Amino acid sequence: MSDGVRLIVFGRQGAGKGTQCARLAEHYGVPHVSTGDMLRAAVRDGTEFGRKAKEYMDAGKLLPDDIMVGLVAERLAQHDARGGWLLDGYPRTAGQAEALAAVTGDAPFDLAVNLEVPEAVVIDRISSRRVCAKEGHIYSVHQPPAVPGVCDICGGEVVLREDDTEAAIRERLALYSEQTAPLIEWFETRGKLVTVDGDAPPDTVTKALVTAIDERIS
Ligand code: AMP
Repeated sequence: MSDGVRLIVFGRQGAGKGTQCARLAEHYGVPHVSTGDMLRAAVRDGTEFGRKAKEYMDAGKLLPDDIMVGLVAERLAQHDARGGWLLDGYPRTAGQAEALAAVTGDAPFDLAVNLEVPEAVVIDRISSRRVCAKEGHIYSVHQPPAVPGVCDICGGEVVLREDDTEAAIRERLALYSEQTAPLIEWFETRGKLVTVDGDAPPDTVTKALVTAIDERIS
């Protein structure tokens, strides 16, 4: 495939970004490149890089831009991303946005999607979120797996994500307002932004996303 979509998805932590990105990636047949998932995989693998990344993540801090630029550039250069990709969690800072051209190489992104959910709603969502420790499938205390604590899909243990503690959540939301929210303007001034209301049932949000994306890139 050579003409798939190249999407960047933004949203506050807890906006439903992980769920919606997985659905969009499947719908458009492109890999879901989540920097958070990549970093958590490195932490699980126990590499030197993973140990370093964990320090930042546990503190609710962002990793340095140069590290993230290298990580994402390497991922998007892989074979499965040649026909398109969905980037989730990057860029997070002005420096990462400025480096976007270097990261995407000779096939630039088509559109940035802002999944908008009010802060009060996401605080409630994050504190009830539970995640499969094996493959990252997402649940909540309101929608638990059929067998308590066991992932329906892969059998992994379903747990509270380590950085979903209250202090880390507050730090991450503050960081989002300070560093990531201004990026939305960066994409808007380039005429590359579409905003979708994420404060609705998941299926409604997915339909709204696909409609908004298709309108802009087809
Ligand atoms: P996420 O799952 O997207 O919320 O990411 C979890 C954590 O990984 C963040 O709180 C950061 O510590 C780190 N992280 C993910 N993406 C980036 C990025 N683009 N730049 C810096 N740090 C990141």
